[in-house]
Amino acid sequence: MNSNFSFSSFSEKSLSFIKSLFQSFSYLFFPPSCIVCGEIAEHSLCAVCKSKIDFIQSLPHCKRCSLILHENVECPDCANFELNFSRLVSLFSYSDYGEFVLRKIKFEGKLFVLEAFTYEIQEVVSSIDFDIIVPVPSYISRFVKRGYNPALSMASLFSKISSKPVVFALEKIKNTPSQLDIPKEERLSNPRGAFSVVRNVEGKKILLVDDVATTCSTLSECSKVLREKGADDVIAFALGRTPLLR
Ligand SMILES: [Zn+2]
Ligand SMILES: [Zn+2]
Repeated sequence: MNSNFSFSSFSEKSLSFIKSLFQSFSYLFFPPSCIVCGEIAEHSLCAVCKSKIDFIQSLPHCKRCSLILHENVECPDCANFELNFSRLVSLFSYSDYGEFVLRKIKFEGKLFVLEAFTYEIQEVVSSIDFDIIVPVPSYISRFVKRGYNPALSMASLFSKISSKPVVFALEKIKNTPSQLDIPKEERLSNPRGAFSVVRNVEGKKILLVDDVATTCSTLSECSKVLREKGADDVIAFALGRTPLLR
């Protein structure tokens, strides 16, 4: 018998084979359709609808916080807010088509749509130097109620692409309302004191992952506590970035 043979690796391979076989059959009879227009699309977002999303890299934007800037002006968010991460990388504007798609992911749990952005996430991974991936956690009761956390699914996708580990270094210790549900003036103080560091992050370069960045105050607060515990660097990533005037 091959000495490398192990029952667990055998069963893992068998399970993934059965899963892919099952998936192929289900795709044959129930091909995935685009969540925007309903046409058949591989990752539930067709190329036409994807092309209508405002991708930040293709628009003039702040290199520090990814805010779309229509004029050559100083970034108001960088000028007005204390940002504790080195920079924030974001894929698309949380408006129009981008908002529609992200709401499907965030509020309806259509996490499979994240796979439609694999290419863009690969580009991000290749442009950033990091050791570990830390998802922004949700408060436990919210996680139990919803049954998912988009930040966690995104962190898993980052891990799959980069082969870097996901570390659950943060815990949410205060149940704060969603940043999207409160007025802009309250968003700055809302996440203060809401997170604690529960893993050793000393000397680590961290990629901090969340679904949407509004005023960046959640990502900034997380970065602050991670740095206080000795993180070497924190680069933030948000799938969507709210534009100015929201
Ligand atoms: Zn479509
Ligand atoms: Zn900025």
